[in-house]
Amino acid sequence: MAAAYDTIVVGLGGMGSAATYHLAGRGKRVLGLERFTPVHSRGSSHGQSRIIRQAYFEDPAYVPLVLHAYDLWRKLEAESGRRLLSITGGLMLGSADSEVVTGSIHSAQTYGLAHEILSTEDIRKRFSPFSPAAGTLALYEKEAGIIRPEESVGAHLEQAAARGAELHFEEPVVRWEAAPSGDGVRVATDRATYAAERLVIAPGAWAPSVLTDLHLPLEVERQVQYWFEPAGGVEPFLPDRFPIYIWENRDGSTVYGFPAIDGATDGVKVAFHHMGAAATADTIDREVHPYEIARMQSYLAAHIPALDGRCLRAVTCMYTNTPDQNFVIATHPDYSQVAIAAGFSGHGYKFACVVGEILADLATDGSTRHAIALFTPGRFA
Ligand SMILES: Cc1cc2nc3c(=O)[nH]c(=O)nc-3n(C[C@H](O)[C@H](O)[C@H](O)COP(=O)(O)OP(=O)(O)OC[C@H]3O[C@@H](n4cnc5c(N)ncnc54)[C@H](O)[C@@H]3O)c2cc1C
Repeated sequence: MAAAYDTIVVGLGGMGSAATYHLAGRGKRVLGLERFTPVHSRGSSHGQSRIIRQAYFEDPAYVPLVLHAYDLWRKLEAESGRRLLSITGGLMLGSADSEVVTGSIHSAQTYGLAHEILSTEDIRKRFSPFSPAAGTLALYEKEAGIIRPEESVGAHLEQAAARGAELHFEEPVVRWEAAPSGDGVRVATDRATYAAERLVIAPGAWAPSVLTDLHLPLEVERQVQYWFEPAGGVEPFLPDRFPIYIWENRDGSTVYGFPAIDGATDGVKVAFHHMGAAATADTIDREVHPYEIARMQSYLAAHIPALDGRCLRAVTCMYTNTPDQNFVIATHPDYSQVAIAAGFSGHGYKFACVVGEILADLATDGSTRHAIALFTPGRFA
């Protein structure tokens, strides 16, 4: 059967929507297949806001990718006319030997990124809602901010469709197969079977069931995003005075949060980073329980006491973790015509536009100019 498509993309979430956009932009005949509706909230790319920052504490190898991401997000913003990126400044807080502080300084120095180091007193003075314990330091970077996931997945999908991509929603892929010769793929959904030259697989938390043949050591982790109403009013949390932040605590917990980006209506978003229960994409408990809200309230009482009002809403989300928290982005080890993206370990969204470009490179040329050696699945062997 002659392939009707150049490339099929499985999963139209953060990474898959971006891949579809880049492939369609290169004139490829693209079919995108998604099990849910456009911009749904059952995967990993929902909840109003994601942090974007440059002094990357996890590893300086991410810095060139994130610098390129800013350019691609701004281009998508111009093309779509949507507001995607807001620069608010960012604080990376912790003790002098915390990973968040030492790692951020290391990346900032390696790449000469503009930053300031703030003492406990500086933090209290400049950002009065924070109540840091003595010995807390922070790296402040003014280019950090927020990328809006629903708006940007929507923009990638809409711009892909405008460039001719065919997008099917509520059509789960049940099986895919690739010829060992590198010659073509077949993808079966609950509705039809499609043939293509190339395949991109970006299934988020469903990776353990879609990429079964690779036996990747992935663990899905349940996360909760909370929106609190500051009882004393939202003013101290507005984005012109309150930054995004990641705060590593001495007990090993890490909390991050955002300013009130939509003003008073939506509240102020905070979340724990990791520390969630093991889950699977199909069986995750999507209800948020009172004891979880109480735990966050007790954290806030000690660290950001002005966030003391009602919890307006709380929504679950999923991380798909690798053992070293680095991504998996590669050509499939057994099939040169298949590119895979998985294991974003709770820090992938800011890169979605670049990951889409890399997946389009791999599916088109078999290689990419971006440095992706860190992301090889071969490291788990
Ligand atoms: C609470 C939370 C906070 C986060 N904060 C940040 C942050 O501040 N900064 C940051 O950079 N990152 C952050 N992340 C991580 C980031 O959001 C994820 O890394 C990113 O969204 C992952 O995108 P994805 O495309 O892999 O997954 P998804 O966006 O979930 O996309 C996968 C898609 O594949 C579809 N799919 C799966 N199986 C099939 C199938 N068989 N057939 C058809 N379709 C299928 C799914 O329905 C889904 O739409 C956060 C994540 C969470 C959960």
